[in-house]
Amino acid sequence: NGVYHDRARQFNDRTNALISVYEELCAREVMQAQDLLGKAAHPLAGIPLIHKDLFCTRGQTTTCGSNMLEHFIPPYDATVVSRLSAAGMITHGKANMDEFAMGSSNEHSAYGPVANPWDLSRVPGGSSGGSAAAVAARMTPVATGTDTGGSIRQPAALCGITGIKPSYGRVSRYGMVAFASSLDQGGVLAPAADDCGLVLSAMSGHDPLDSTSARRPGWAWQKPESADLTGVKVGVIQDWVDGLQDEAIKQLTLQAIETLKAQGASLIDIHLPHADLAVSAYYVLAPAECSSNLSRFDGVRFGHQTAQAQNLEDLYRRSRSEGFGEEVKRRIMIGTWALSSGYYDAYYLKAQKIRRLISDDFRQAFDQCHVLACPVSPELAFKHGEKADGVSMYQADQFTIPASLAGLPCLSMPIGHAAGLPVGLQLIGRYYDEQSILAVADQYQ
Ligand code: GLN
Repeated sequence: NGVYHDRARQFNDRTNALISVYEELCAREVMQAQDLLGKAAHPLAGIPLIHKDLFCTRGQTTTCGSNMLEHFIPPYDATVVSRLSAAGMITHGKANMDEFAMGSSNEHSAYGPVANPWDLSRVPGGSSGGSAAAVAARMTPVATGTDTGGSIRQPAALCGITGIKPSYGRVSRYGMVAFASSLDQGGVLAPAADDCGLVLSAMSGHDPLDSTSARRPGWAWQKPESADLTGVKVGVIQDWVDGLQDEAIKQLTLQAIETLKAQGASLIDIHLPHADLAVSAYYVLAPAECSSNLSRFDGVRFGHQTAQAQNLEDLYRRSRSEGFGEEVKRRIMIGTWALSSGYYDAYYLKAQKIRRLISDDFRQAFDQCHVLACPVSPELAFKHGEKADGVSMYQADQFTIPASLAGLPCLSMPIGHAAGLPVGLQLIGRYYDEQSILAVADQYQ
């Protein structure tokens, strides 16, 4: 425990992966872990953990990467936090992130950009960039993250670790600051699939405090015994692989798929006809939901309050103008506009229809295969400042957003390096079948 804590302190100057590094570990959690270690211990008891700074931690700041919540100290724990601490895990800090989880580079944080441990001049991906960088730099063995359109998978890929976004409804959103509620899911970033499976099992399951939490029985990861993929049908989304502009990523992806075949999997060619509409639909739906969710930050009930309001309306305007960063404001504007009465049918409703078509594409694909394999990110970790315009950043989400719109479980696992930078492969599973994608990743690893 102490080793990770020392490394967290030592490497935070260089990576800026953590917004807070706890000076003193939470006495309640340490006692709980000691207590558990004495008995038939949970396998996670005593293991250090970093939470993305949008999971509410009782008595500890939860900034969401925003000036808006700079001094926010929640009076309660998120369900993810309380479940993992009940298993005996010990939180030793909170991870940096793009403000309100909006971004793919961790450059949109009020607490400064995060550096990728593989090359400090490059981004770690986002929005769970701090979580991914912290695991990659061995500042923590495990971190939580959230994924709305790729925010666990893309940083996991760019930092050379494993990251899983479970099925929508698998993990409670209670106490997880909302961005786009119909898409947000908490998940895990860790070195390997086996670690992700253990931690995900401990944090998942029905929660009466979240009305969208699935009323399904709990699940426990089972590490496969045989190192063989015989009988597993892997659907390869070939157009995505063929469309990769980066030759090195393409070669590594093809090689990884060949490895799955060599391990016994049969490969099937899959085409998702509506997937290329996913980014456009997402950037209507996610901003629409965010404009509604973020309306609670009014300078009265939560977070930053301006010091110089003339009247109530001015208080709202100034508090929000001062508290939110550029990208968050852009999304609120787009979302408010898309939801306004004259445009609702043209944008929001149309995007919902596309979402349905994409879900149907996946349903048909899963008639033919057990898991899907495809790229995660079309490019390697890019340099800080390289993607200044919003749209090119949005385009980087093209391979991660489709599974998010369909609510499916998906992960990124490391498959090698190009020019010294990590590359990941994405596996997507049937709804509620985290076991299969983790099992394939575990055997690959
Ligand atoms: N990059 C995407 C966005 O900015 C995804 C973010 C996320 O998954 N939280 O919306």
